Amino acid sequence: NAKKQGKNRYCYFEQSMIESFDWKISIEKELREAVENNLFYLMYQPIVDAMTGRFKYFEALIRIKDSNIPPNIFIPVAEETGLILKIGRWVMEEAMAQIKIWENMGLENRKISVNVSPMQIQDYELISFLRDELIKNNVDPADFEVEITESVLLENREHNIKVLENIKELGIKIALDDFGTGYSSLSYLTYIPVDKIKLDKSLKDRFLSLDNSQVIKGLISLCHGLDLKVVVEGVETLDESENLKIQNVDYLQGYYFSKPMKKEDATLYIENDIKKD
Ligand code: C2E
Ligand code: MG
Ligand code: MG
Ligand code: MG
Repeated sequence: NAKKQGKNRYCYFEQSMIESFDWKISIEKELREAVENNLFYLMYQPIVDAMTGRFKYFEALIRIKDSNIPPNIFIPVAEETGLILKIGRWVMEEAMAQIKIWENMGLENRKISVNVSPMQIQDYELISFLRDELIKNNVDPADFEVEITESVLLENREHNIKVLENIKELGIKIALDDFGTGYSSLSYLTYIPVDKIKLDKSLKDRFLSLDNSQVIKGLISLCHGLDLKVVVEGVETLDESENLKIQNVDYLQGYYFSKPMKKEDATLYIENDIKKD
């Protein structure tokens, strides 16, 4: 069937095609259609307490309905075209509405973190938008978190840092995502106003081997010294999970615990976790 064909076809997409002009135009077209017709949805992946394996909160990950194009491909196009502002606002609204649904169901662990692009941080309306959404949905800011990347430090650093401080003043915690993929300078950890560092899967893959595990261990202890919590992303095996546990990491995320889930399954996931009390 068409969908299956589409999926197979996707396997043959190559970097050159992704970067080609026509390809970008077709993604942009699909994105505009998705914005106009409300074709986005969120998947939720749990982040667990490293010591107990118990549920702490979800990361929201955007998808386009009936599409094989993953966010790694369409988010950069959304950023280039400015569509990310609209899409990003939808993500924040949807996450807050979901937090409220879980709160109304009496679920205590209902926290969601959302990915926020640098262009959204530049948006001078972000702070008032967040404040209005928190009030409109009557959501506790402690139940909401944002994930940013170090690219907010590339341009307009001073302004962006100010915005991050304003976000924190709303009571919203901030995580630095994908640490280990870019410059990952240790010095900026001392001044970027974040509460948490997410170590990227690639960093874990490179350094969790026996000889190199001191790097991860040292990084985690450095973060703790700066009063930062540490999440490791992309944990796929029990072995990795056990290994990271003894390195004192705070939280774990990855397929070993759960793949991203639709909201209905995410609800079941929370309810199942409560049964372990
Ligand atoms: P991210 O924020 O670093 O999210 C983690 C990605 O790793 C997700 O990919 C998740 O499905 C994947 N992942 C989780 N556990 C594992 C594992 O054990 N193994 C492997 N191989 N992968 C794992 P996804 O959902 O395809 O999202 C990719 C990226 O797209 C995200 O990386 C984020 O940078 C961006 N993204 C997703 N949703 C949004 C959004 O709403 N807004 C923005 N601005 N960016 C988003
Ligand atoms: Mg993220
Ligand atoms: Mg990440
Ligand atoms: Mg990543």
